[in-house]
Amino acid sequence: MNFVMPRSTYTRLHRRVPVAARNRAERSQHPVFELIEELRREAKRSEYLSYSEIGPFRSGGAVHGIARFVFTGPDLAEEPVRIGIFAAIHGDEPETAYAALEFLRRLLKEPERARGYEIYVYPVCNPTGIEDGTRHSRSGVDLNREFWQGSKQPEVYYLERELGVLLFQGVIALHADDTTPGVYAYVRGATLTEALARPALEAAEAFLPRAAGSVIDGFPAQDALIHHHCFDGVLSNPAELHPAPFELIFETPQEHPVELQVAAAVAALDRILEEYRPFLAFGQNL
Ligand SMILES: [Zn+2]
Repeated sequence: MNFVMPRSTYTRLHRRVPVAARNRAERSQHPVFELIEELRREAKRSEYLSYSEIGPFRSGGAVHGIARFVFTGPDLAEEPVRIGIFAAIHGDEPETAYAALEFLRRLLKEPERARGYEIYVYPVCNPTGIEDGTRHSRSGVDLNREFWQGSKQPEVYYLERELGVLLFQGVIALHADDTTPGVYAYVRGATLTEALARPALEAAEAFLPRAAGSVIDGFPAQDALIHHHCFDGVLSNPAELHPAPFELIFETPQEHPVELQVAAAVAALDRILEEYRPFLAFGQNL
C-alpha cells in the first residue's frame, strides 16, 4: 500500500470561483488554448477521452485552471496502468503542448494503441507562462524547480496532488530545449526507464537528430541519455513510491521547426506505450 503525503504548503482558495467568472477571453489568446477547446469538444463525443480541469487558482487578477485529459484505453483491467504526461511546465515551450495534444488526437483515431492504459495528459502545466510566453509562471517562478519542496505555487500544489493521488506507474515530462541541437532524455526512477528511453529516442530520430556529446544541459550524457542527474525540484513522482515508477524527461531541440518537434515527441510517446506493454504482463513488481 502506498501512502503519500504531499508536502506542499499551498492553501487553496476558500471560495470557489464560478466558471462564468473566469477569464476565458484572455486564455484563448494563445492558440494552444483553442486546440484544447477543440479537443475538449471531441472528448464529449468520445467513449475513450474525457476532459476536466484541475484548480482553480488565482494569478495576476485572473482565475486559471490546468487542463487534464484522460484517455481510457480499451479493455482496461481492474487496476489500470496509469501513465502521466506533463507538458509546458515552462511557458515558452508551447511545442510540448502541441505534441501532447497531437498524441491524444492520434490515440482517438487508433484507440487500440492505448489498450490496457489509462493515460493522463496535462498539455499546459503552466497556463500563465503560456499566456505570457515566458518560461516562468506569472509569479516569476520556474515551476520546474519547486516540486516536493513545500512550494507555495498553486500550479505545483495541484500537480503534486495529482501525482500523490494517482500514483502513476510512469511519468513523462515533455520539454523543448533551445541550447541543444538534438533530442535527448533524462532517465529517472525505475531501472526499466532506460529500456523505454532508448527506443523512444530511436523513434524520435526519424524526425530529428539525436543530441551528441558527453555533456548535455550541463550533465554527463551517453547516447543522448542523462542518468542519475537532474535539477532539484523537477516535476516527478513522490520519492516514496514502491516499486519505483519509470520517469522520463524528453527534450526536443527548440531550434528545429515546431512540426518536427511535435512529430518526434509523438513518435517517442507512441513508442513508450508499445515498449512498456510487455512489462505489464508481469505485473508491477519490477
Ligand atoms: Zn523546459
